Amino acid sequence: MLFTPVFARVVYAETLSVRMLDYVAAQESIGTHPVRILTRTILPNVTAPIVVQFSLTVAAAMVLESGLSFLGLGVVPPAPSWGLMIRGARGTMDQAPLMLLWPCLALSVTIIAFNSLCDALRDALDPKAHANVLNAGRSGPANPASSSPAAVSSSKDGRIVLSVRDLSLRVAGLPDAPDLVRGISLDIAAGETVALVGESGSGKTMTGLALLGLLPQGVDRTSGTLLFTRRDGTVVDLLSLDESAMQALRGDEISMVFQDPGGSLDPVYRVGRQIAEGIRAHRDVSSSKARAEAIDLLRAVGLPDPEEKAKAYPHELSGGQKQRALIASAIANGPRLLIADEPTTALDVTIQAQIIELFADLKRRDPDMGMIFVTHNLALVSQIADRICVMYAGEIVESGPVDQVFAAPKHPYTAALIASVPEGENERLHAIPGHVPALGNISPGCRFAERCGLAQPGCGEHPELRESGQDRQSRCFHWKKVA
Ligand code: SF4
Repeated sequence: MLFTPVFARVVYAETLSVRMLDYVAAQESIGTHPVRILTRTILPNVTAPIVVQFSLTVAAAMVLESGLSFLGLGVVPPAPSWGLMIRGARGTMDQAPLMLLWPCLALSVTIIAFNSLCDALRDALDPKAHANVLNAGRSGPANPASSSPAAVSSSKDGRIVLSVRDLSLRVAGLPDAPDLVRGISLDIAAGETVALVGESGSGKTMTGLALLGLLPQGVDRTSGTLLFTRRDGTVVDLLSLDESAMQALRGDEISMVFQDPGGSLDPVYRVGRQIAEGIRAHRDVSSSKARAEAIDLLRAVGLPDPEEKAKAYPHELSGGQKQRALIASAIANGPRLLIADEPTTALDVTIQAQIIELFADLKRRDPDMGMIFVTHNLALVSQIADRICVMYAGEIVESGPVDQVFAAPKHPYTAALIASVPEGENERLHAIPGHVPALGNISPGCRFAERCGLAQPGCGEHPELRESGQDRQSRCFHWKKVA
């Protein structure tokens, strides 16, 4: 009872740190119930520090008991106690020193043995701790899919999967601060891939999280509608759904692939089991069938030896293999909309190319799946996306078909981003001067004005996103002057 507050504090601190990790968000994104996340994901991940704390507590209790008995305040004779034995031996220490040695030795050995036992138990409970050889440097296989590029936009058939209108997000408790994300409106059609592009801090990841209803604490939605067309053709506003309804959609009709494959898989469960749980969270299938499906999915995303990989823990896979496993989990239930949040950022260039080819292959296999591809890498956009929405400081500043935007950008920021992409070995990089403004420094006029070479006095007014050609939009007063 004395040590209970210590345990409570350890568990509380560990839970707070674990719940912020990507694999917990990934569990939420596939619609897992919160109680299940608590018991199946968070509890196993906080077990190791609890076991360590337990061993320390038991050792402290043994020393405490011996100390009290030594002082005559603990165990009452004839009950046995090493503290009592030490007390008794103290009087004959000069004549028979060994009588003092044995109880001290027994006490010390017992405490060391108990700590070693708890260490072994912690290692047994934590698969990360008994990893033998990590697959460092092992790369994923060449993708079995063909190397043809992604299909041209299929948005013209008008089957809209998601329609976002006037989405704005703000830091909670700061009503006078500018919006983090302001007035986002975009449509994603069946089979279409829309790239959200911008530097860090542009609001693209926050927008993706808002679509899944996974905004971090401290961020509020101030306006917007998110009309999602379900498989049965019904249209729902995602922002009007309660949490249980959103859980049913996440991982089923809407899925997300996160940025960090290492942090998005639960380290204490085998990969196949994690995918199978995502399947069983939404479909009434037996665990053996779900595992068989998980293996098929791992095979479909190009993992070699999928039966063995399904039995592996995340730390036994390379970065590219983990990302493939995450993608397998995301597509397990045939989503209508897949949100990929910088899915290649943590990977090296060779694996990046394989993962992009995998996404292109998924689009070919499921031509009705809409995709939002969040990235800061324009080179990837040209390979995977049909449309591009360029974001800056929380606003869309330009949108249009990828080939048209790349050929003739109509916003100075887009033009600067394109100029900053290296094209050859001798190509000179053109860095964009300055930084995305911090929230407190966003100007009421054009948010790009401080870094814009075309800025003029009239840019102190806030530009709206306007038509700048067929199927093109720009948030710049002077888009006709952009070269
Ligand atoms: S509105 Fe003015 S400051 Fe803003 S991007 Fe256009 S030219 Fe530059």
